[in-house]
Amino acid sequence: MTGSFVLRGAYVLDEEGGFSGPLDTVVVEGRVAEVQRGAAAPAGIPEYDFTGLWLMPGIFDCHTHVTYSATTWGESVQTPLTQWVLEGAQNMREILAAGVTFVRDAVGADPGFRQAVDSGFVPGPRLQVSWNQLSQTGGHSDGFLHAVGIDWAWTPDWPGRPATVVDGVEEMRRTVRQLLRAGVDWIKLCTTGGIVSEGDERDAPYFTEEEVRTAVLEAGRLGRSVMSHAFGGEGLTTAVRAGVRSIEHGLALTEEQAGEMAASGCWLVPTLAAMRDIADWGEGAASGEDNPLSSRGEAIRKALEVGPLIGQAVQIAKAAGIRMAVGSDCIFREQHGGNLRELPLLHQAGLSVEETLLAATAGGAELCGVADHLGRIAPGYTFDAIVLDQDPGDLSIFSQRGGVSGVFKAGEPVLRHERCGDLGPKRQP
Ligand SMILES: [Zn+2]
Repeated sequence: MTGSFVLRGAYVLDEEGGFSGPLDTVVVEGRVAEVQRGAAAPAGIPEYDFTGLWLMPGIFDCHTHVTYSATTWGESVQTPLTQWVLEGAQNMREILAAGVTFVRDAVGADPGFRQAVDSGFVPGPRLQVSWNQLSQTGGHSDGFLHAVGIDWAWTPDWPGRPATVVDGVEEMRRTVRQLLRAGVDWIKLCTTGGIVSEGDERDAPYFTEEEVRTAVLEAGRLGRSVMSHAFGGEGLTTAVRAGVRSIEHGLALTEEQAGEMAASGCWLVPTLAAMRDIADWGEGAASGEDNPLSSRGEAIRKALEVGPLIGQAVQIAKAAGIRMAVGSDCIFREQHGGNLRELPLLHQAGLSVEETLLAATAGGAELCGVADHLGRIAPGYTFDAIVLDQDPGDLSIFSQRGGVSGVFKAGEPVLRHERCGDLGPKRQP
């Protein structure tokens, strides 16, 4: 019986975000059969002593970009599609080994990535994909190359990829339907400008409420939802009123907007690690350091405004009762694998340890609509799990790479823990 074993004596994350135990976790064919002290093991399945270890569900990263690697504009326009895809496979391996067993990809990965992982061709987290992020002409994802007059969607062109820039209700309807035809799980919109992009101000509003409503309606008819990149201002309000399921970033969220989000059940994915990196790059680049924002005056100006705002939205959202999920928003190769940095940052911003651990597991599962079988270690749930050698109580274990010492996906050890003998592959050096 593959994916069948007993892990004896670990502390296991419970429904309140604390750890119960020591408990024995019985896994049969990739699913949790039992979690209790002294659980009887079905005959013939191996047992491992997990005394003094911590066990929790695999982490949900609800906003990252597994295919993004290039660190400069020049590199991104020069990279062939095939190299881009294969480096994406390497990124996925690192993300999985870091303890992330589920990713909601917020632009980049097409449904082929999801299918390749599901088929077992390449190791990676379970994926929900949006493929594109749609914006209006001049918006955040309009990377028009002025010198050559070419539309540039941040990545090499891709056979069959629908448009990235859409204007008006009818173009929105057709593009959303094309993405749904391709098999995306989410529709991603940009209803405000960005920071690392050029030609768009951070809180400038993009898309009319009618355009966003059209995306929400078309996605909803096929059981899909919309996530919206929005930092603040009118574009954030528009997205919430039009019925998007989650706001991404929300850096300049106000109390009034938070009230509307809470009333409509809209989630917030604050992406604090990415905001921290952007603020640091801005300061570094302004003093001549070589980093992804170097020599990009407009992006540096916008990045320098980020620092003082980091974490403010988390406190406003928490006070308003908004549900939050973890999103690392990695956009360069050096960031992949450091996804779990987001957890201590959420705690520093005001979530309790328990709230943070639940946001990273059961919360992410709920946002992504898979909470009936993923995101908990409980009977009947698929055994996607991580092992920790230290008490994660202060969350600092997540701030360093390699803090997670074992990873299981559907009961398969995808990162071998030393207590599991020769079960599964070891971490790559
Ligand atoms: Zn992003």
